[in-house]
Amino acid sequence: MRIPFNKPFTIADELANIAAAVRAGHLAGDGPYTRRCHQWLERNLGARKALLTHSCTAALEMAAILCDLAPGEEVIMPSFTFVSTANAFVLRGAVPVFVDIRRDTLNLDERLVEAAVTPRTRAIVPVHYAGVACEMDAIAQIAGRYGLVVVEDAAQGILAEYNGRKLGAIGHLGCLSFHETKNVISGEGGALLVNDARFVERAEIIREKGTNRAQFFRGAIDKYTWVDIGSSYLPSELIGAFLWAQLERAAEINAKRLALCAAYRAGLAGLAARGRIALPQLPPAGTTANGHMFYILACDLAERTALIQHLKARGIYAAFHYVPLHSSPAGRRHGRAASALAVTDDISSRLVRLPLYWSLAESEVSEVVDAVEAFYAR
Ligand SMILES: *Cc1c(COP(=O)(O)O)cnc(C)c1O
Repeated sequence: MRIPFNKPFTIADELANIAAAVRAGHLAGDGPYTRRCHQWLERNLGARKALLTHSCTAALEMAAILCDLAPGEEVIMPSFTFVSTANAFVLRGAVPVFVDIRRDTLNLDERLVEAAVTPRTRAIVPVHYAGVACEMDAIAQIAGRYGLVVVEDAAQGILAEYNGRKLGAIGHLGCLSFHETKNVISGEGGALLVNDARFVERAEIIREKGTNRAQFFRGAIDKYTWVDIGSSYLPSELIGAFLWAQLERAAEINAKRLALCAAYRAGLAGLAARGRIALPQLPPAGTTANGHMFYILACDLAERTALIQHLKARGIYAAFHYVPLHSSPAGRRHGRAASALAVTDDISSRLVRLPLYWSLAESEVSEVVDAVEAFYAR
C-alpha cells in the first residue's frame, strides 16, 4: 500500500502530554488536559459548554437523551450519513425520518424539511458533510416554527463556519468527532457542544452515569447520588492529553488539508472540464470549509468500482460511502424515508473519496491525480 486512504498522526506533544498526565497521577476523566480541551472548544467554537466524550457517537447518544423522546417520536435527518446519526435516536425508541440531500453540498436539503414534519417530529439533525455547512438559518426557522431541537452532526466540521459561526455551536446541541479519520484526532474521541443553557446541567449528569457528580466536584452539593438516566460518556485523561496537543494546532491542520484539496481540485480540473468526472462544488457564500474530505463523482456505479480497483492496483486506496441508511437493513427496520431519495441514491453510488491526511505530500496528490487520469485515458 503506497498511499493509504488515511494515516493517523501526531503533530506535536501528544506523547509528552500523555507521559505528563501519567506522572501527574490523574487518569480518570475530567483532569487538567480535559479541562483545557473544554475551554479551547468553548472559546474557539463559541459553545456555551463543551464536554469531551468517547466518540461523536457517544455525543449523539447524549443529545438523543437530552431530546427526551417518547417511543415513536420522529427525528428528521439525511439518509446520506454515518450510521451513528440515526442509531443514537433509535436507541431511544425514536424513528429517523430520512430527507434527501442537495446536489451541490450533499447536505440535508432544507427545502424538503418542512414537508417531512409531522405532529410526532421532535428534532432535526443536519449533518455538515465534508465540513461544509448546512443551510442553518432555514433549518433554525423551521425548528422555531414547530418547537424542534436542532442537533448538529458536526463530526466532520471542526472550525468550519456558517455566517461567521462555527459548526457545532449553532444548533441547540452539536456533536464533534476526533476519530482518527477526522481532521483533529485522539484515536477515538468526540465532544458534545451544549449551546442552549437549558441542557447544560442535565448534559453533565447524563455524562456522569446519571449522577450529579460534576456539581459535587464544583462544591455545589455535599454528596452525589443517582438523579437521572445516563452512562459513562467521559473519556480518560489520556485522551484529553493527546487531543490537547492537536487542538492547539487545529487551524494549521485544516490549512494543510485545504491546500491538499486545492491541489486535487487543480490536478483534476481538466477531467472535470471534459465532463468525465464531477468535483465538489466550492463551499456556498457565507461558509468556510475545513478541508475534511476530497471526493469526486464517477459516471455510475460500474465506473466507480472499476476506478477504485484501478487505483488499488497502483497501491492507492480510495473509499466510497455511505450505504444510504434508508436502504440498510437496520434503517429499513427502524426508520422511514420522507419521500423519494433520488439524489441520495444517485450520489452514494458514484462518490469516491481520495486519500487525504496530515502527512500526505503534494507529490502524492499528483500521483493520485495521474492514476485517476490514466484510468479515464483507457
Ligand atoms: C465520523 C462520523 C460520525 C461518528 O464519529 P465517531 O467519533 O467515530 O463516533 C458520526 N457522524 C458523521 C457524519 C461522521 O462523519
